[in-house]
Amino acid sequence: MGKNLSMIQLMELDACTHCAMCSSHCSVAIAFEGIPNINILPSEKVASIKALASGNPLTEQEIRGLQEGVYLCTNCYRCTVVCPVGINLQNLWNRVRELLIQRGIPELSVLSPLSFYRGLMKAEAAQGDYEKPLTQAREAISSQCDLMKKKDEVLHLTPVDEKFKSGLDLSSQAKNFSICFGCQTCTTVCPVVRHYENPQEVLGLLPHQIMHAAGLGLKDLAIGSNMLWDCLTCYQCQEQCPRGVPVTDVLYELKNSAIKYTKEKI
Ligand code: SF4
Ligand code: SF4
Ligand code: SF4
Ligand code: SF4
Repeated sequence: MGKNLSMIQLMELDACTHCAMCSSHCSVAIAFEGIPNINILPSEKVASIKALASGNPLTEQEIRGLQEGVYLCTNCYRCTVVCPVGINLQNLWNRVRELLIQRGIPELSVLSPLSFYRGLMKAEAAQGDYEKPLTQAREAISSQCDLMKKKDEVLHLTPVDEKFKSGLDLSSQAKNFSICFGCQTCTTVCPVVRHYENPQEVLGLLPHQIMHAAGLGLKDLAIGSNMLWDCLTCYQCQEQCPRGVPVTDVLYELKNSAIKYTKEKI
C-alpha cells in the first residue's frame, strides 16, 4: 500500500506518535463498546495503515477490520483538528477507502449509513455492488463475528432494517438519524449536558453518540443511556442540527422503545 499513498501521507504516518489524542476525540469511538474492532479508533487505524505501508502483510481479518474502521468513520474531522503533529487524518481515511475498494479487499465493502461514500463514486467501483450499502455493512460485520468477543451483544447487525424497525419501533421521521454526520452540535447546545462537569459519567451516551449508536443498530447502547431520561425536550438540539436530524424526537421515541423493551423483558 505504501506506494499508493502520497509522499506526504507516508511522512505523516512516520510522524504519528500514537498519542491517542485523535481517539479520545473521535465521534465514533463509542462504537468500540459494541463492536470490538480496534480499528474503529483513529490512532489504531493509523497503526494498521503504517504496518501495511511498511510492507508488513496484514491477515485477511486484520484488513477487514481496517476496512470496517475506515467505513465507520463519519468524516467529522475531529481527529484531524486535534492531532498535535498535524496529520490530515481525514485525507488518509479517504485514500485508504479508495485503495481497499480498488484492491477488492475484502470482497464485500463495509459501509455505514453514516459514512460519506467517497471511493464508491470512483469509476472503477461497480455501482451495482453498492445498491444496499446498509445491508452490506451489516452482513459484512456479522460475517466476521468470530472477530467479536461479545458477539451476542452486537445487536441486530443483520438483517438490518427489519430487526431494527421492529426492535426500536421508530417512526419513519425519526429514522432519518442516519443522515447524522457526527458534528456533535446537538451535544454542544444541550443544557442538560452543559449542566454536568463530566456529563458522560452521569448521562452515559450523549445526544450525538445516541444518534450514532442508533445509526449502527446498536440497540442496547441507543436505549441504555441515562440521557434519554434526563432530556428536557427543549428541542435546542433539533433546532440547531445542521443536518436536520429530529434529535429530540428520536430521543423521545427511543425512550418509549426502552419502556416497551423493558416491559417485554419483565
Ligand atoms: S493524534 Fe495524531 S499523533 Fe496522536 S495518535 Fe492520532 S494521528 Fe497519531
Ligand atoms: S473523522 Fe471523526 S469519526 Fe472519523 S476517525 Fe476522525 S474523529 Fe473519528
Ligand atoms: S447535530 Fe445533527 S448531525 Fe450533528 S451530531 Fe447531532 S444529530 Fe448528528
Ligand atoms: S431536547 Fe434534550 S437532548 Fe436536546 S438539547 Fe434539549 S435537553 Fe438536550
